[in-house]
Amino acid sequence: MADRSLRFAWLEGDVEEVKQVTWKGDRHCDLCDYEVKNEGEAFFDARTRMGLWAKLCSTCWDKVGAGALGTGHGQKYVMTNGKLIKVEG
Ligand SMILES: [Zn+2]
Repeated sequence: MADRSLRFAWLEGDVEEVKQVTWKGDRHCDLCDYEVKNEGEAFFDARTRMGLWAKLCSTCWDKVGAGALGTGHGQKYVMTNGKLIKVEG
């Protein structure tokens, strides 16, 4: 709880800087059905080499991800304090 209150104090001072985008949908990988749930794990909603979009765990992203992130390519999320927060894309 101590960490959380510190974070709120920081957020209040930098509201404009902190526009956290969180993934609220299903956390299962479309390919291997792995559920991303551990702290620090990455999750991708991104285009694959086959051209299709998919929700991917980091292992499958390495295998089939198109490699690019950003608008029109894909987004990367990382599990942080129990939430998938967008870090790239
Ligand atoms: Zn997977």
